[in-house]
Amino acid sequence: MGPAIRGDLAAVPDYNIPATAPDAILLNSNEGPLPPPPHVVEAIARAAAEAHRYPQWFSDTLTDRLARALGVPEAGIAVGCGSVGLCRDLVQAFCAPGDEIVCAWRSFDAYPVFARVAGVRTRTVPLDAAHRHDLEAMLDAVTPATRIVFVCNPNNPTGTAVGARELGAFLDRLPERVLVVLDEAYREFVDDPAVPDGIELARHRPNVAVLRTFSKAYALAGVRIGYCVAAPSVVSAVHKVAVPFAVSRIAQAAALAVLDRPEELRDGTAQVVRERARLTERLLRDGHPVTPSQANFVWLPLGRHAAEFAGFCAEQRVLVRLFPGEGVRVTIGLREENDAFHAAAARYRLHPPA
Ligand code: PMP
Repeated sequence: MGPAIRGDLAAVPDYNIPATAPDAILLNSNEGPLPPPPHVVEAIARAAAEAHRYPQWFSDTLTDRLARALGVPEAGIAVGCGSVGLCRDLVQAFCAPGDEIVCAWRSFDAYPVFARVAGVRTRTVPLDAAHRHDLEAMLDAVTPATRIVFVCNPNNPTGTAVGARELGAFLDRLPERVLVVLDEAYREFVDDPAVPDGIELARHRPNVAVLRTFSKAYALAGVRIGYCVAAPSVVSAVHKVAVPFAVSRIAQAAALAVLDRPEELRDGTAQVVRERARLTERLLRDGHPVTPSQANFVWLPLGRHAAEFAGFCAEQRVLVRLFPGEGVRVTIGLREENDAFHAAAARYRLHPPA
């Protein structure tokens, strides 16, 4: 018998680690399809040469750069070990055991896990028939115990996004003591002008915290860095609970290098957005269900056929993310990768396994 582990941890689901295979096409983790450009790799190498030194505690140089780029005060930015690290920090900072969070379901699966680990209850609110956040119902789910409402915009895994008008109306009616975490991990891929820029909202609303990441559009998923834009009081609460030196020197240097050449980011995201439209159109033409997406992935609500479809794609060496009984999420890759997925999906439709 080993040391006594917290009894309630048994109820925490293990993280659903995405599959990988050496010669497969990986469309199951919402990563960027291309590696970082050479100047970013060089910045990483330079930072590696100083790996014997601790990084800046609060990522000061990056915070300063982001503050100037986004037009917010430095005190309104917290940098973290991926935006997922900041999600966890926000739960730690705002929720005590017995408190509640509200989130849509299905949405990013880390929210209820972090809540449970903190002894916090999650009220999940089903997405509406169009796989979008049902903000009215989320408002109804708020109780005096609610500390955080997570709004994932665009939503993972459905790719749907809520518009400025409906989000504004929701925020107007939510008690100001409740923090809204607007998770914008996929914001750079939005092309619908109705979708709000969360940073604008955070600038004027003290109860909105926006999460952004360098993992997706900036091709840095492997170095782990994201940031939160919020009122200074929210940022200092995050700083209190953060793991010291959680953001490595390498991650800080990589993010700074990416910000040096924003045009490369724009080209890369524009390509993903074009490919998203092309793949969606082809899948719909073939008769597959596809939800209109604002992110770097598409959602196929296949219900009870989801597992069979994902298995069939895996046999064709294309890995997609399965949500059993609900659907599959397919990351937009390079053109030829998307073509390979489309070919697999077309074969499935013509010759579904018996
Ligand atoms: N938020 C959402 C909605 C996500 O889908 C992800 C990644 N899957 C994250 C946050 C975390 O991203 P990262 O920690 O790499 O910044």
